[in-house]
Amino acid sequence: MNLKRRGVLVAALATSAALPFAGCAPSNKSSYSGGWVGAAPVRGHRLRDLKNGSLPTPAVQRRASVLVIGAGIAGLSCARGLLRAGISDVQVLDLEDSAGGNSRGHRIGGMACPLGAHYLPVPNADAVDVMALLEELGLRRTVHGKAVYDERHLCHSPQERLFIDEHWVEGLLPPLDALPAAEREATAAQYRSFGQAVAQAARSSQGRAFRMPTAQSVWSPELSALDAITFSVWLDSKGYTAAALRWYLDYCCRDDYGASAAQVSAWAGLHYFASRHGFHAPDHWVQKDDTSAERDGVLTWPEGNGWLSQRMAAPLAGHIHTGHIALRVDESPSHSTVDVWNDAEQRVERWTAGHVVMAVPLFIAARLLTSPPTALQQAATAVNCSPWLVANLHIDAPLDDHAGAPPSWDNVIYDPLRNSAALGYVDAMHQSTRPHAGPTVLTAYWALGGDSLGQLRAQRARLMNEPWSVWAEAVISDLARAHPDLKYKVRQVDLVRYGHAMAVPSPGVRSSAALLALAAGSVSARVHFAHSDLSGYSVFEEALGQGVGAARRVLSLLG
Ligand SMILES: Cc1cc2nc3c(=O)[nH]c(=O)nc-3n(C[C@H](O)[C@H](O)[C@H](O)COP(=O)(O)OP(=O)(O)OC[C@H]3O[C@@H](n4cnc5c(N)ncnc54)[C@H](O)[C@@H]3O)c2cc1C
Repeated sequence: MNLKRRGVLVAALATSAALPFAGCAPSNKSSYSGGWVGAAPVRGHRLRDLKNGSLPTPAVQRRASVLVIGAGIAGLSCARGLLRAGISDVQVLDLEDSAGGNSRGHRIGGMACPLGAHYLPVPNADAVDVMALLEELGLRRTVHGKAVYDERHLCHSPQERLFIDEHWVEGLLPPLDALPAAEREATAAQYRSFGQAVAQAARSSQGRAFRMPTAQSVWSPELSALDAITFSVWLDSKGYTAAALRWYLDYCCRDDYGASAAQVSAWAGLHYFASRHGFHAPDHWVQKDDTSAERDGVLTWPEGNGWLSQRMAAPLAGHIHTGHIALRVDESPSHSTVDVWNDAEQRVERWTAGHVVMAVPLFIAARLLTSPPTALQQAATAVNCSPWLVANLHIDAPLDDHAGAPPSWDNVIYDPLRNSAALGYVDAMHQSTRPHAGPTVLTAYWALGGDSLGQLRAQRARLMNEPWSVWAEAVISDLARAHPDLKYKVRQVDLVRYGHAMAVPSPGVRSSAALLALAAGSVSARVHFAHSDLSGYSVFEEALGQGVGAARRVLSLLG
């Protein structure tokens, strides 16, 4: 991958305070190189600038029977479906230099690491399209009627640990014995009760209320009521106020939706657990049943879901045009015309296509279409996207560690008071089979959506305006709470900023008639929509489902 890195060397004198760990003899200087990677903001602004001025006359005319704009998971799955069905001149455009969108990988110091999405939970029986893809890619097979996953790609143990009260514990749910004695009894009761509420939700509508992908869910007045309020209002109303439980639920919302329980709907908060692996109170951990390993399984790779997107893109070689930014889409009764900026050639091209699939975020689709349908305008206004920061830190030696659970794939710091945007880090070398720890890349995630729309916007402005070195220092000092020696061992920090990373499933979004109309393909004859935004939130399963659905709709129109 040829991502441009813009930045310089940062050299900062570290404090002369002694390090807290024996056997550590670092230099007293912290110095690392780094910068922003990925081209999205710069090229995205070119779109805005070119649109504000008059577009140059197109230098080249090109044709496709179907033109897919956006080579994220949704665009790739749509194009793959069309190609497989015999549409040989499907073409895909993307503004970045490689396909994959939010699911791309990166390399530092010869080591692969994620730029965005980094895992896929083992799918349940509803996710037929995901299972078909995993079988095609050799990750899953059925033996004697039972699903078997390729062990190399299932997350190795230990998976997760939490830094709490100056030591590491296994798992991410704060264990009772790490909490102040006065909180334990009430917290235990609330863990248990919340687990029961999730189990009940998972059983509702004959087990069809919370499905993954969500298109398979049976919608009901009960779900509409949950979608009308925030998760934190619902939790308050049920008396779930224990600090440890609220921290954990908030963490899950920020991890999956990019914003806290105060912003996402109660539907989304429950869906996180009820559609996947449930919520398991501590008692359950002690007596794991024999299906728990399979149920809790997570597929992951050093380069994160870039592993998947690269393989999804492979059959489309020759059909994907990276560095191509769609600027304007004009729909007519007989065809659609798309003006495109070709960044390598520095020219505008005019593409004509029978059908156009907009596999881009809805707010971009609304800007690109010269006559955006009302449903698109409404949906683009209803969906707010959270900003995210991803920082890849190349360290040249293993970190010293506090006592407790050993280094894991996912490592999170418990912090119920600060309500931090930081979500901890994953270790890119965790899946390697090397016998000793050594240099690695730690990928730190910051979900900047906050507690309110005001915070979300302010954080986005900060993300786009502050220099990379300010963010790098913030990430290092956050992780230094668990790893004080990190600053002496970090050699390079590559950061990605996503101004509009993913749709926040805030109240009303999931029930939005406009979103449903766009996802059903009922608003336009030649322009179709396929992006995880249409699901109201962004995960691999939803993006894939939206892409597959759009391909089916186009194929039915093509006869
Ligand atoms: C930091 C982060 C971490 C995540 N972690 C996970 C995870 O671990 N697991 C998980 O399942 N999901 C995760 N996600 C969610 C992730 O968004 C989805 O899994 C999925 O990748 C979304 O795919 P998509 O195709 O819907 O959208 P996108 O990835 O947004 O794809 C849209 C594409 O359109 C292109 N584009 C935009 N405008 C234009 C234009 N004008 N012209 C041409 N091309 C354009 C973009 O470059 C992009 O490639 C994460 C997301 C982020 C941001």
